[in-house]
Amino acid sequence: MGTDVDGGVAGVLRAGSRALADLVLPRSCAGCARPGDVLCPACRRRLTRPRLAEPRRHPPGFPPTVAAGAYAGPVRPAVLAFKEHGRAELAGPLGTALALAVCVVLAGAAGPAGAPVLLVPVPSSPAAIRQRGRDHVRELADRAVVELRDAGLDARTAPVLGRLRGRAGRTRDSAGLDAAARRANLSGRFQARPAGHGAWAGVPAGSRLVLVDDVVTSGATLTEGARALAGPGDTPCRDTPVLAAVVAATPRRVHRPFAPPPPGAFTVRGRGGEGADRASTVGTGARRLASG
Ligand SMILES: [Zn+2]
Repeated sequence: MGTDVDGGVAGVLRAGSRALADLVLPRSCAGCARPGDVLCPACRRRLTRPRLAEPRRHPPGFPPTVAAGAYAGPVRPAVLAFKEHGRAELAGPLGTALALAVCVVLAGAAGPAGAPVLLVPVPSSPAAIRQRGRDHVRELADRAVVELRDAGLDARTAPVLGRLRGRAGRTRDSAGLDAAARRANLSGRFQARPAGHGAWAGVPAGSRLVLVDDVVTSGATLTEGARALAGPGDTPCRDTPVLAAVVAATPRRVHRPFAPPPPGAFTVRGRGGEGADRASTVGTGARRLASG
């Protein structure tokens, strides 16, 4: 217990000192270090290139997943700055990128028109949250929800996925493990909270579930999360196909980029039903990222 408290306080102090540094140090792009924006226009544009995430070994059960861009070049340091180095202000551009990926994966999958959209953050381990002093995936999800609602979608963050007690302390950080080791490490790690849990409050059956994370590499984490959401259990969305969206995906030599939205997509917002709304959202998100 004492260790937990110490870790929590240390995390808060770290976050506080980083916030102070932001006030006194000149701001620079987290991707390319150019002075000025937290993420410069050129780096933002790298997150307007949605693509299907296709892990090299494609684990069985890997959900249909769209990334806003490639986890390469300046996108890597930008995501790491947000995740590991306390650049919390990056939640803005990275959350917008996530919203774009959510729209594209929804547009590409069959589903009930107008159904509420639940963004389900992949839960970080308690140790990771203590160390960072924050839950960065939850921050991304919340920011993406603001963007989606702004564009007219009935979206909300739904922290309905939990970590199984008992196993959490034994699982290792998956960094440095190969794909098979990651699957073994993560097996049985997540569990959907039961329907009576407050996380599902007000969620109608048939809502669309989009699992969200910062990046996808091997696909093991999203596969395990999707399995937990779709598995046996008393939840309102048990029969809803699980989709996934991430800020960035490890690039493949051959990938299938989605066509960018047509210019007209910017003008159809609110006039033409769900498809038009989605196209508009994609356009809005892409435009915000591109314009900074
Ligand atoms: Zn940059």
